[in-house]
Amino acid sequence: MDNSIKIQFLGGSNEIGSLAMLFETMDLKLLFEYGMTPGKPPSYPLPAPPVDSTLLTHAHLDHSGMIPLLCSRNDQPIITTKLTAEISDILFKDSIKIAKSEGYAAPFSNSDIKEAEHSMVNVVPNQKKNIGNDHEVRFHSAGHIPGSLMFEIIGQKKALFTGDLNVNDTRLMKAAKPINCDILFMETTYAGREHPKRKNLEKAFLDKIDEVVKRGGVAVIPAFAVARSQEVALVLKNAGYNIWFDGMGRKVSKIFLKHPKNLRSAEDLKKAINKLNMVHSDHGRKLALNSEVIITSSGMMDGGPVLHYMNKLKDDPKSAVLLTGYQVEGTNSRRLVEHKKLDFYGVTEKVECEVQYFDFSAHAGHSELINFAKSCNPEKIVLFHGENRELLVEPLQDFAEVYTPNNEETLSL
Ligand SMILES: [Zn+2]
Repeated sequence: MDNSIKIQFLGGSNEIGSLAMLFETMDLKLLFEYGMTPGKPPSYPLPAPPVDSTLLTHAHLDHSGMIPLLCSRNDQPIITTKLTAEISDILFKDSIKIAKSEGYAAPFSNSDIKEAEHSMVNVVPNQKKNIGNDHEVRFHSAGHIPGSLMFEIIGQKKALFTGDLNVNDTRLMKAAKPINCDILFMETTYAGREHPKRKNLEKAFLDKIDEVVKRGGVAVIPAFAVARSQEVALVLKNAGYNIWFDGMGRKVSKIFLKHPKNLRSAEDLKKAINKLNMVHSDHGRKLALNSEVIITSSGMMDGGPVLHYMNKLKDDPKSAVLLTGYQVEGTNSRRLVEHKKLDFYGVTEKVECEVQYFDFSAHAGHSELINFAKSCNPEKIVLFHGENRELLVEPLQDFAEVYTPNNEETLSL
């Protein structure tokens, strides 16, 4: 019997978005992820054929965003953590709202979301499960965001699919550990880029907030609702500022706290969240504008309460925007960094506030990816989910065969 592994990317091979990978061996057919690319307009992966199971690493839309469409077309279990299932559900519903408000056709309906809810099969890190007749899948924490998994597929060969991966401890998560495997499927978001030391980064971030507060400004911290805003809250836990928290991150924090085993320390997160003032009304928004720090979404400033705050603060040179996430091309936060301008629902305005970026990434950096791969000791490495994955080919070829398949290309391993 042919025991080779055949794979094909339906999206996301060489970009950060719309990730989907078919995986076929012996009598087993799997799909890893089924994401989307948020944007104007959003884009989607190619249609997926029926599979035995879909494995979902985590709740970010570039990995999970099109799961409801998948479930509406084919009956299959979606294997993931309960935390990922609950956060995904919120994001699916939000996608429909965003599509409506931006005037795009939503790619799925509320009943498709219901279908997805019923298809979720919950697993936990360190658990294992039989899959097909001859395979086992083991679940490992990916260290990326709460609930995130790596999948180890064990048959005649061992394969590891990383999803998004972090090898540094953060305040929210313990780092992922390398897993011995024959074939490594590895993300490459930060190929060609390194991260600053976490300790130095946190110090610089706190020093900057101190400076802004002392000169009488407000530090506005746009942060992704899922994980980044909670990480920021943890960094600020003992700083003693008057901090306000607005946006979807509030709801997400509650879900995180329901699943303490997926966190580095639920107790710490609880303490950090309890120190924040929650915005529930227009009155809260007014109080926030007169406070010291505002943590709010969206992280790339393309919508959400952050635009309300910036509209009020944009002319104040004493205030500052402290970005905590990478600014993808074409987003409002990229416009802010490059041109000191923001788009307020179609009207572009100059921003007088100070703007600074702090690299609180939850992905492994360039040399961390190389070290991780080396420690997994694979024969073959397939690189995906990055715009610069070619930069990793040469260093990885020292110890493995390296593949960079394009979307739609079939690879036999
Ligand atoms: Zn992610």
